[in-house]
Amino acid sequence: MERTLVLVKPDGVQRGMVGEIISRLERRGIKLVALKMMLVDQALAHRHYGEHEGKPFFQGLVDFITSSPLVAMIWEADDVVEIVRGTMGQTNPKNAAPGTIRGDLGVNIGRNLVHGSDSPESAQREVALFFKEGEILDYNRNNDPWITEP
Ligand code: UDP
Repeated sequence: MERTLVLVKPDGVQRGMVGEIISRLERRGIKLVALKMMLVDQALAHRHYGEHEGKPFFQGLVDFITSSPLVAMIWEADDVVEIVRGTMGQTNPKNAAPGTIRGDLGVNIGRNLVHGSDSPESAQREVALFFKEGEILDYNRNNDPWITEP
């Protein structure tokens, strides 16, 4: 079963959008298997966003993501990376489709509310950065056959 890392970034927490964002993901039918609130330190921010090091927005991004608590989650489903990316919308909220999290709730690329891993490979890396294996729960939902054809 595929997993992905989702962050409600500090702007989402400050704006009181945690429930709204979790609710949209829950309604999609994917399964929440880990969740915690945390303050990201410089080291974790640099590891998480390492691929952007050297880009003009990098320092602002690190300052922003470490500025205030965020909510980190792991969601699980077949093709969950693609499902979450679709539900989030494009990186720049200005271009994100209505009906997506970013398209409905945001206006600015530096305040785009939410992070979701961009591939199954980065999801594996990011899940391991934010969570210990013991924090990820294995449980059954008895409505799964009503969400996904067995
Ligand atoms: N970002 C930014 N300015 C830019 C490009 C990206 O502030 O010009 C931030 C934005 O918060 C984005 C994050 O950097 O979510 C990571 O960028 P990426 O291209 O990986 O987008 P994502 O995967 O988050 O959609």
